Amino acid sequence: GSTIGIVGGGQLGRMLAMAAARLGYRIAVLEPQEDCPAAQVANRQIVAAYDDPAALAELASISAVVTYEFENVPVEAAEALAARVPVLPPPRALEVSQDRLVEKQFLNGIDIATAPFLAVDGDAGLASALQAFGGSGVLKTRRMGYDGKGQRVFRNMLTGGYAGVFEAMGSVPLILEGLISFEREISVIGARGADGKVKTYAPAENVHRDGILRSSTVPAAIAPVTATAARDATAAILEALGYVGVIGVEFFVLDDGSLLANEMAPRVHNSGHWTEAACTVSQFEQHIRAVAGLPLGETRRHSDCVMENLIGDDVALMPQLVAEPDVMVHLYGKAQARPGRKMGHFTRLKDRAAD
Ligand code: ATP
Ligand code: MG
Ligand code: MG
Repeated sequence: GSTIGIVGGGQLGRMLAMAAARLGYRIAVLEPQEDCPAAQVANRQIVAAYDDPAALAELASISAVVTYEFENVPVEAAEALAARVPVLPPPRALEVSQDRLVEKQFLNGIDIATAPFLAVDGDAGLASALQAFGGSGVLKTRRMGYDGKGQRVFRNMLTGGYAGVFEAMGSVPLILEGLISFEREISVIGARGADGKVKTYAPAENVHRDGILRSSTVPAAIAPVTATAARDATAAILEALGYVGVIGVEFFVLDDGSLLANEMAPRVHNSGHWTEAACTVSQFEQHIRAVAGLPLGETRRHSDCVMENLIGDDVALMPQLVAEPDVMVHLYGKAQARPGRKMGHFTRLKDRAAD
């Protein structure tokens, strides 16, 4: 079969590779770290930096299409690839989602509400931004943050205490967001096919601990109109970007049921892992279908479910979990269980048929 190239070798790349193999594709992974989760299941790994020109040329030459599994692929690398081979989702989706300021401006520009925000480029800017937000907010690095890294929460900080914060955050461009007291958090996994058709999965309700996703529950405990609004907003993002592939969009649900978009990831998403256990076509297969030009699959689920991440030493629970009925376990092949490291996940299906 033809080869699909993946930039990035983490667990998302691994699960994409597994889905692609099932549809008869070969997989080549570009990843500097040897024995990475994706390389363990791919046909081939190119061991090089993501922006290595020779490696990019090689990946382009052996791939029918190139995709990626993380949003911080250097845009120049994506464009270098795109000059030689189709790159999906389009590199523009990387540009928008790599910078929280650009991302929020894009969302607001297509009438999707977000938390209020202000760019912050120094301690003085932080002081005036906090004044504007009544002393509370979430300060984030504009680029490169994940799992809540590069964030700092301020409460009732109207009278100083900002000195040195900009430097402590790495002297990089920052954004201050209003501190949202949300009722819950949800996310939508959506896909747009090469033919322009859009499909979205039901929203998952997400619980985070220490900035890291712990669990995703489907269905989310939200009103049908809220679920529809979240799915419609996701579809609007896909259309506006001329997107092809799977996207994950996170939302805050306020107590009146209204939504604020938090962030989007131009790739398969941790909060969509439940789809491998509860849907005929998982988010991983959906992404492969989209970038390979196949029709999208149905997104309806056969079961309600809860997905939980196995973080750090949680991975030791594997033997107990596989002993449970209606539980699907998925480990990522990482040798070292460090605190905060995502080692795997499991999905527990509810109300299964007896036989
Ligand atoms: P991810 O691992 O999902 O990519 P991230 O590091 O990009 O995470 P965010 O999603 O922006 O970070 O924030 C992580 C979590 O922090 C959110 O899921 C939410 O629980 C909380 N949070 C973020 N922004 C705000 C905000 N403006 N108001 C209140 N809580 C927030
Ligand atoms: Mg993020
Ligand atoms: Mg997030």
